[in-house]
Amino acid sequence: MSNPKEHLYQKTAFDLVSGFKNKQWKAAEIAESFLNRALDTNKKLNSFICIPHESILDHATLLDEKRNSNEDLGSLACSPIAIKDILCTSGISTTCGSKILQNFTPYYDATVVEKLKDKDALIFGKTNLDEFAMGSSNENSFFGPVRNPWNLDCVAGGSSGGSAAAVAGQQCAASLGSDTGGSIRLPASFCGVVGVKPSYGRVSRFGLIAFASSLDQVGVFTKDVRDSALLLRIISGQDSKDSTSSSNFVPHFLDSLSIKKKWRIGLPKEYFQQGLDSEVRQALSQSISLLGKNKFEIEEVSLPHSDLSIAAYYLIATGEASSNLSRFDGVRYGYRASNPKNLNDLYKRTRSDGFGYEVKRRIMLGTFALSSGYYDAYYKKASQVRTLIIQDFQKAFEKVDLLLTPTAPFTAFKIGEKTKDPIQMYLTDIYTTAVNLAGLPALSMPCGFDSKKLPIGLQLIAPRFEEERMFQMAHYLEKEFHVQNSKHHIVL
Ligand code: GLN
Repeated sequence: MSNPKEHLYQKTAFDLVSGFKNKQWKAAEIAESFLNRALDTNKKLNSFICIPHESILDHATLLDEKRNSNEDLGSLACSPIAIKDILCTSGISTTCGSKILQNFTPYYDATVVEKLKDKDALIFGKTNLDEFAMGSSNENSFFGPVRNPWNLDCVAGGSSGGSAAAVAGQQCAASLGSDTGGSIRLPASFCGVVGVKPSYGRVSRFGLIAFASSLDQVGVFTKDVRDSALLLRIISGQDSKDSTSSSNFVPHFLDSLSIKKKWRIGLPKEYFQQGLDSEVRQALSQSISLLGKNKFEIEEVSLPHSDLSIAAYYLIATGEASSNLSRFDGVRYGYRASNPKNLNDLYKRTRSDGFGYEVKRRIMLGTFALSSGYYDAYYKKASQVRTLIIQDFQKAFEKVDLLLTPTAPFTAFKIGEKTKDPIQMYLTDIYTTAVNLAGLPALSMPCGFDSKKLPIGLQLIAPRFEEERMFQMAHYLEKEFHVQNSKHHIVL
């Protein structure tokens, strides 16, 4: 080990894979280091719903045997990767953070999980989330809120809060999440890790329990940009089981990380207006002036329909959710109310008892927005606004190669601070939802800390299927931020 004080659980996936392949460490040592860390810290963070420690240790034994018999090892060999508990894992419970699926165990893997297994990753348990991925703070989980590793009184962000906190808290090397309106980028920003939401269609959604099918994408959380590039390439690609997955070429993101050209950077003026916390603004300004000093072309651009994105998102997402969640009826999966009087009573009581408050609010809102007489005024209108938002981005990308914005208007807030006011909670997504409506790739990375010692997130947005340039820019910035960011430490 280069630094004797460094623990294995502090390492990146990339370093673990090479150390394991070079026989620096055994799989059993890696697994034990992460297991001890995760079991020890999970009481504080509540980031995992399930850590199947026996199967992790069994898998590590198999990996050691595989290496000892000189079999080929996959490009994620022995890197512990946690999975948001909305992705199906064969033989491991998949709860969606909900009482209704508390005892549900799928008999197949999501395509992304299968791909990780094919590359010899250690599947390191299932992470906590807002129920059915509906939320911005991870306070809507049946299993309790996730706490932020930088300040245990603060939220981790949602909905993939467990996946973000697990990486920030060094409980696993990397994790998978899903992003429908910001659920990867927002918790990545609050927890100070890298979070990537790929282009819509880049990654298969097969086995991702659907929230809003036209917006959902699976993505990654990692400690650095290199690991994100490594992981995203592995989980990307067309899948015959998901007709919305794209046949577009998947570049070798890791091999093309060094910056190819001075990408032109656009600053959407609507993302720097009122409501942006002054310390977040300051950190962003510093990043922008750093790019200016290094001769990047920076230009202000406009995304004029930005102020409509929250409203359009919350109509489209809830509309799709009301339809997707109708499959949870007490007949096919999970929880079933006891002694029903008749079929209607079964449906009604199963759903009333099984779903939490926010999920029921969304189902009602979505059902209303889709109902006859209101459809044109709400859902159709929102779809038309969606087209305007797509066009805004297209126009901006005629002038610039990438957009740079804050990920969130503020840093992590206190647990309980926004739970009483859903509108305040929804406004947390102000800089993330438009990206999903337009199907674009975006990444959040830490670019500094505020006076409360909480991480600040910077978002890079690229044109559809141009993740490569987004990674290059992020990799470049990461080197620039390194000294300043490495002065800060989590509290556990
Ligand atoms: N916070 C948003 C919501 O509550 C986004 C959630 C997500 O991306 N899954 O809907």
